Amino acid sequence: MINHPLECWLNLRMDRPLNSGSVSPEELQAWQFGLLRKTISHAVKSSPFYSKQLQGVVPDEILSPADLNKLPVTTPEDLRKNPNSFLCVSQDEVARAITLSSSGSSGTPKRLFFTSGDLERTTEFFQYGMGPLVGEGETVLALLPDSRPGGVGNLFAESISRLGAKTVYPEDPSDIPTILNLLLNSRASCLLGPAIHIHALARLWKSKRLPKNQVRSALLCWDLLPPVAIETISNTFGCEIFSHWGMTETCLGGAVECFQGSGMHLREPDFYLEIADPETGLPVPDGTSGEILFTTLSRRAMPLIRYKTGDLGQIISGPCTCGLSMRRLGDVKGRLDTDILLPTSEYLSMAELNEIILQYVGVLDFKVNYQQQSLALNIALDIAPESKIPTDLSRALTSYPKLSRTVLENNLKINIIIDNNDGSISSGFGKRLITSS
Ligand SMILES: [Zn+2]
Repeated sequence: MINHPLECWLNLRMDRPLNSGSVSPEELQAWQFGLLRKTISHAVKSSPFYSKQLQGVVPDEILSPADLNKLPVTTPEDLRKNPNSFLCVSQDEVARAITLSSSGSSGTPKRLFFTSGDLERTTEFFQYGMGPLVGEGETVLALLPDSRPGGVGNLFAESISRLGAKTVYPEDPSDIPTILNLLLNSRASCLLGPAIHIHALARLWKSKRLPKNQVRSALLCWDLLPPVAIETISNTFGCEIFSHWGMTETCLGGAVECFQGSGMHLREPDFYLEIADPETGLPVPDGTSGEILFTTLSRRAMPLIRYKTGDLGQIISGPCTCGLSMRRLGDVKGRLDTDILLPTSEYLSMAELNEIILQYVGVLDFKVNYQQQSLALNIALDIAPESKIPTDLSRALTSYPKLSRTVLENNLKINIIIDNNDGSISSGFGKRLITSS
């Protein structure tokens, strides 16, 4: 017998009795592919983009993962070019449209549409997924994009209120000192937000010698989860850490952990997720890392079929010890094409710099710009009030093997400056990347 609320939700969605226990992987997949065929039919019938893109596809021939290669992929570029051509319902039925400005160089924003039913399914996922983290009468401090009334981030508050708990939001997610006051005043016991924000909050919390016993759980989402930041958060608050994967294209919710370090259980009733080799586009076996692609299974306004997320991850093989039937996503380590190529022909990632730079107590966040022509790595630190640039940070960077080689062989210059020193940080809700100029 499984007690996790997400298993009840899966049974509800599959029209199975609530006490019928686990769903077998075969049963789950067969049910998902039934929904996937319906999604193809709905998209071909109602979306100008898919009626063209999926011309000649026979939905009844898509029976298992091996058949997915008969379906072309959908790229973020397709979405940018003509978002309206994806729309499958009338404008009257669109409850929410979100414009996503691009963090990359292409500039054109993406636009996504959701019906009230699409939004409700996300609220349900949050409600059942957050059940083990939040008790009745408790408060969640949430750092979410679009948390205005009616905004997509607000779906989270709705799900929390269904659990008998409440949500508080900061007005400015970069203003960490104000967020710290909100955390103290609200007595919130659960934190939700990007790892870098919660990490900065933990650093300030510790600098004020505040107690360990207030926060009992933190759900980290929207970007990389640097191990060094997770350790700081966990040690500072003495709390359990849960990871979440999702993006606006998944209507925020995508996958959530059952306990720390277990991998994130997928939102199987609403998405079929696959992992593809970034070079060949072919599916890779469970346990192998590749690009995450998903197909929506219940989306009415704007179904997405084999959407290329650009995120890299892997499906963890085998069942979870918690007994949940949903597959698990593990090891979401970064995004395609975001590492920089050093003149020594080695790639440098934000994940590597996180581990070097975030280990210093006074460092809350940082930005990195790589100047290819003049060969300089410019690091702008956000530090805690009354902190300084850590004395041995420069040495730590130049002794990191890849950087050490580039300094010696190519005379790379590493410049470190202070950006913010009032406790605020520069990161927003976008992915933190090394920029190039
Ligand atoms: Zn589990």
